Amino acid sequence: MTRMYCQIFLALLPLSTLFSLPTLGQSYQKIHDKAILVDTHNDILSSSIQNGFDMEKDLTGKTASDLDRFKKGGVDVQIFSIFCDDRYGVGRAFARANQEIDTLYAVAARNPGKMEIVTDPAGLERAVKHHRLAAMMGVEGGHMIENNMDYLDSFYKRGVRYMTLTWNNSTPWATSAMEETSHAYMVTPYGLTDRGKKIVQHMNELGMLVDLSHVGEKTFWDAIHTTTKPVLVSHSSVYALCPVFRNLKDDQIKAIGQNGGVIQVNFYSGFLDSTYPKKLATFMARHKKEIDSMETAHTTEYTIHEYLAKAYPREAASLRPPLSLLIDHIDYIAKMIGVDHVGLGSDFDGIESAPQQLDDVTTYPLITRELLKRGYSAADVEKILGGNFIRVFKANTP
Ligand SMILES: [Zn+2]
Repeated sequence: MTRMYCQIFLALLPLSTLFSLPTLGQSYQKIHDKAILVDTHNDILSSSIQNGFDMEKDLTGKTASDLDRFKKGGVDVQIFSIFCDDRYGVGRAFARANQEIDTLYAVAARNPGKMEIVTDPAGLERAVKHHRLAAMMGVEGGHMIENNMDYLDSFYKRGVRYMTLTWNNSTPWATSAMEETSHAYMVTPYGLTDRGKKIVQHMNELGMLVDLSHVGEKTFWDAIHTTTKPVLVSHSSVYALCPVFRNLKDDQIKAIGQNGGVIQVNFYSGFLDSTYPKKLATFMARHKKEIDSMETAHTTEYTIHEYLAKAYPREAASLRPPLSLLIDHIDYIAKMIGVDHVGLGSDFDGIESAPQQLDDVTTYPLITRELLKRGYSAADVEKILGGNFIRVFKANTP
């Protein structure tokens, strides 16, 4: 903003706004600290195992998350994603997921003063009261139960409290957003099969939240008509603002409102900013030779993006949308179905780019500040930061 525009802008501000700005500066941190902040999706567990990182150490500069930085950002409840991709098929995926669960339990056992694995709302509230990170688990992809209901029971017994019906890959009982929309896969969407409906019903009985991030539209509608409990969308954003395959369309958003569920907005630049793919493609084209050499080594697309973001930080930073765009997605959902149905599912450490200023898990207070600036009350902000998720968690707990 140039000086001239700045002066005009200040002249246009009502006096009350000018006086309330310093108050906002002092109070947003207080409101942030008082709220229970729940983030429903973070990939530090699987990515740290893959890269040999230890989240008990200071990983600043290497990752977006570690135990001490969760504390600095005021994160009270973190749901860790239990994840392996579709290269882990039947015979391997369940075992791999269990190794990740083992690791989280080991981290918790070594850090009893800092964190605690919680499995019910009472445990969550207890951990928060004692200023320990309430660590929860969500299985990101139905392929990890290997089409075996006993494995679903086993995950529940080990403390997993949500399962994303699909990741980008479909299961024999549910089609994913990626495979329902991409011609490359040539999958005729089948949504939830009868088996899939039984799985959703069993999740309802257990008290395992049905997570509809990543699922195809057909699966979405079948699941929303099957579930008897409010659903979770752990890390997805708004299609109308950024039309990508796994964002939610307006009719889906409305259905979640009617279901009493909650949409936790994903921070990924590519799911927030419709101009991001073009900017990313230009960036990638500039470094094509380097990418080609990595692709021969069977590296995943995410690893390539992450590598380039670290190798060329200034270029990568120029691709990031403003923080206000994340707030636009939250605002869109709140205006459409009410402030009771939206929250935060950052996807940190599973994404290589988030909006400007949202560099890591210490930056959540900036979201609180932006929400207050948009006119949300402290009570609204508390709902968005975590109250809404906790309501849905309680409604699912037998
Ligand atoms: Zn995901």
